[in-house]
Amino acid sequence: MNINTNKFNWKQGFTVGFCLQTGMSDKVISTKRNLSDMRGMYFDEAAAEKLTAECNPLIYEFFETGAPEKDSDLAFGTSITYPGKVGNEFFMTKGHFHTILETAEVYYCLGGCGYMLIENPEGDWSAQKLAAGTVVYVPPRYAHRSVNTGDTPLVTLFCFRADAGHDYGTIETKGYRKLIVEQDARVKIIDNPKWKKK
Ligand code: MN
Repeated sequence: MNINTNKFNWKQGFTVGFCLQTGMSDKVISTKRNLSDMRGMYFDEAAAEKLTAECNPLIYEFFETGAPEKDSDLAFGTSITYPGKVGNEFFMTKGHFHTILETAEVYYCLGGCGYMLIENPEGDWSAQKLAAGTVVYVPPRYAHRSVNTGDTPLVTLFCFRADAGHDYGTIETKGYRKLIVEQDARVKIIDNPKWKKK
């Protein structure tokens, strides 16, 4: 992780500012994900290829504070998912399980609106509403993905056990069970026809 952890005093405490509207901070390093970084993750691959060739939009970015990866620390930062669609599917993050599956996470929504789409390996899933002022609790074992169904950036502050780790590969291979799309000018949660059992 290319983050300057020395900026913060993880042993004795520190304060860091994040912009409430944009979730940004000049004190931490951001990671950006453009559409070209998400090959195969959107259902409509032709639409994804076309949009990538046209302008390769920035889909989301996150700001991390670079916590020591220990079970005694808490990692936190902000995540910004931008508004837009690939075909009829709303812009979303890649989504991930934690490498240590039995670890939870909290997301506090600072702005925008959408859903936190969560699912566990046993097949349970739900779409938790994100709107400014709401907190979503992602329980242990649940993969989580932010989906922006609005027309402004969806901004959240996240916090999780600092050694939890990120497993992106499972979602990249299997996909999510559900998709969040626009149909007849409404937000719909539908089965993902491409979801793979194994
Ligand atoms: Mn997480």
